[in-house]
Amino acid sequence: MSVPIYLDSHATTFVEPRVLESMLPFLREQGGNPSNPEHHHGGAARDAVEQSRQSVAACLGCSSPEDILFTCGTTEANNLALIGAYLQAAAPEAHFISSVIEHASVQAPLEYLQSLGARVTWVPVDSEGRVNPADIQSALRPETLMVSIMAANNEIGTIQPLEEIGAICRAAKVLFHSDAAQFVGHEVLDVEKIQADLLTFSAHKFYGPKGVGALYRRTTPEAVRLRPVMHGGGQEGSLRSGTLNVAGIVGMATALRIGTEELAEENRRLMALATAIVARLKQACPGLRLNGSTRHKLSRNISLTIPGVDSSALIQLLKDRISFSAGSACSSAKPEPSHVLRAIGLSDEECYQTIRLGLGRGVLAADVADILADGIAAAPIFSPSRNGWSGAMY
Ligand SMILES: *Cc1c(COP(=O)(O)O)cnc(C)c1O
Repeated sequence: MSVPIYLDSHATTFVEPRVLESMLPFLREQGGNPSNPEHHHGGAARDAVEQSRQSVAACLGCSSPEDILFTCGTTEANNLALIGAYLQAAAPEAHFISSVIEHASVQAPLEYLQSLGARVTWVPVDSEGRVNPADIQSALRPETLMVSIMAANNEIGTIQPLEEIGAICRAAKVLFHSDAAQFVGHEVLDVEKIQADLLTFSAHKFYGPKGVGALYRRTTPEAVRLRPVMHGGGQEGSLRSGTLNVAGIVGMATALRIGTEELAEENRRLMALATAIVARLKQACPGLRLNGSTRHKLSRNISLTIPGVDSSALIQLLKDRISFSAGSACSSAKPEPSHVLRAIGLSDEECYQTIRLGLGRGVLAADVADILADGIAAAPIFSPSRNGWSGAMY
């Protein structure tokens, strides 16, 4: 039996061959510790890390490589940005503004800070999943420390008005943080243009390895100051102690360079493919609805509500042919309906009838739509009265 087609690129992607090739020396003969640059092996590792830092900075429109801090991923980087800024501010009742559709790695640290006394305003989104910058403007208070708004959503693909939000924050002298895990490596990004102070991402979302990511932290003209969350050997300017993942960092830099070079062409391809897939599915299932935004959307995202179809049952039914997810894979431990889908106005029942397709490099033809159409025709009818859902895939 052939391997199923992978349609879950919002959850993760696979390391691409050129990326793996660039990493291998640092897992083999060049496997030194960059914190010991006195000898040959440590020096080579340090040079590789610093070259990667320059390359990553350049891809983000960031003029100073020291603005890039390497972490093990977006979750860690978000925690460092949010908790680190709060600790540095030393104002227990500091105020944060965030949105109702953030990833758990922003929501949960903010809830933790609330338990320490911080205040959080959660701004709503419209039916396309977009934040209205005016809502951020009106939520500002004298004690507002930071605005944290994701660049693009991991469930419905909606891209936020980053430039407008950045301008509001800069004018108000409030920090602007963006979780850009779905955006970096896929869309054109210039951290200076959007006036971000803090921005986070993970290599594995753009064909790099898992377990490595970064925090962009502006250091000029006036540095954004953070307190470390992890203490130890003092790596990364004492902001993130722990031996650096050299091979992972090199792989991330390669993946980001390739992603940046190829994104225009790849996005054109993915957009055409998504349009073809949706058109075929609509023929097979006239009642289905597309979630998210038509204009401000990641080209690889297709979020669909299919009336009458239990999404978990559909995943199980098609599991030998395609891999895709319901709502959000990141919260799959929780059987509750997705907070993102609810925020854009879906009922609980509609949430259970929603699937997320994440297109990517390995998806070459629209015939995945025919596989899905087969499944939709064969799927058990969704019944809200049934006692529990088949798979609890959320
Ligand atoms: C994947 C993702 C994360 C978490 O990334 P990790 O690599 O698991 O730390 C955070 N935010 C968004 C929007 C994501 O898509």
